[in-house]
Amino acid sequence: MSQFKTLDDLGDIRGKVALVRVDLNLPMNGGAVTDATRVRASAPTILELADAGAKVLLLAHFGRPKGQRNSTMSVSMTLDAVEDVLGREVMFIPEVAGPVVGQAVGILRDGDIAMLENTRFWPGEEANDPEFAKAIAASGDLYVNDAFSAAHRAHASTEGLAHLLPAYAGRAMEQELKALDAALGNPEKPVAAVVGGAKVSSKLAVLEYLVGKVDHLIIGGGMANTFLAARGVNVGKSLCEHDLTQTASRIMDAADHAGCTVHLPYDVVVSKEFAVNPPSLRVCNVHEVAPDEMILDVGPLAVEALADVLKTCRTLVWNGPMGAFETEPFDAATVALARIAAALTSEGSLVSVAGGGDTVAALNHAGVADDFSYISTAGGAFLEWMEGKELPGVAALRT
Ligand code: ADP
Ligand code: MG
Repeated sequence: MSQFKTLDDLGDIRGKVALVRVDLNLPMNGGAVTDATRVRASAPTILELADAGAKVLLLAHFGRPKGQRNSTMSVSMTLDAVEDVLGREVMFIPEVAGPVVGQAVGILRDGDIAMLENTRFWPGEEANDPEFAKAIAASGDLYVNDAFSAAHRAHASTEGLAHLLPAYAGRAMEQELKALDAALGNPEKPVAAVVGGAKVSSKLAVLEYLVGKVDHLIIGGGMANTFLAARGVNVGKSLCEHDLTQTASRIMDAADHAGCTVHLPYDVVVSKEFAVNPPSLRVCNVHEVAPDEMILDVGPLAVEALADVLKTCRTLVWNGPMGAFETEPFDAATVALARIAAALTSEGSLVSVAGGGDTVAALNHAGVADDFSYISTAGGAFLEWMEGKELPGVAALRT
């Protein structure tokens, strides 16, 4: 893994001002934060810096205010939740740079924590304007990035600042980078990837990258239908991108060349209507799908075969559910495979890393989220990482 400075490299920071990029883009309902997971993720970093005597300035975006002040998107709406998680008072500063920040920093004591306003209120943030970054950097002595979830954006607070101040990966960033490196950067072989979800088109780059990286590519979910169609299977009324069957064939050829085995389901769960426990539900071989049926989940025989594949593997990276898991019983394959991966992880035979909005929901639904080696809540950044892309916020931290 390439080298990053971490909080271990900090030396004495008593009295120094630490600009800390965190993820405060929290889900809200009626003005209240509904899920503070992202704050909990960065709490160790924030508290470690404060306890070492730094004056901590939190830096984050919230929503999409498009470069203008917008009172409905003030990051101060997260203040109560942040104070709750940290168990400390946090001062709010309604600017990100300039004399107001300077004055506020002047009254902070060593170990105090403050929150700067939404970085995206200023157009320089998303433009990664060096002048804007310089103005922010003027308030700080060092920069810590603890927001992997924002690292796929080259913005002033995620990328520009890292070039202007001594830059460090926070604890959550460090943990995420280590976990991702263990999964795809420098994994123990054999490696399996599960790629599911609705559409091939949303994950083309992921599939193309993975065939050259992994030993087993397990394709499930709606996107499996496009691959099945490419192999001449009649998928009936299933979600299927018929215009992408040639692309699917090309990916399967590339896998062949790279020595990657592609696993498609050979039995499936079908139904004429998409509803909870529909009367027309049945399990059949992929070659027996009727013209008026939809494939909504991977079948039980295929799941058993996939379990045998996972048992031979040392590393698993998973993005995308195997079926329409929000609607019972089309969660069965996702839940079964997730439990197998969790059990193998607990036994110590598998390193398992998963990510993606719906994937995290599906693994929570299966009750196994704590048993995976690592679950990334980063969404877009996780997918770009699965495409083998260099994330600008991560690259900028390199020493
Ligand atoms: P993630 O957010 O983890 O990256 P996606 O957004 O790509 O995952 O895909 C999740 C969606 O795919 C879910 O809403 C699920 O219902 C849908 N899905 C999975 N399998 C099927 C299927 N066979 N037919 C229709 N939709 C499916
Ligand atoms: Mg999704």
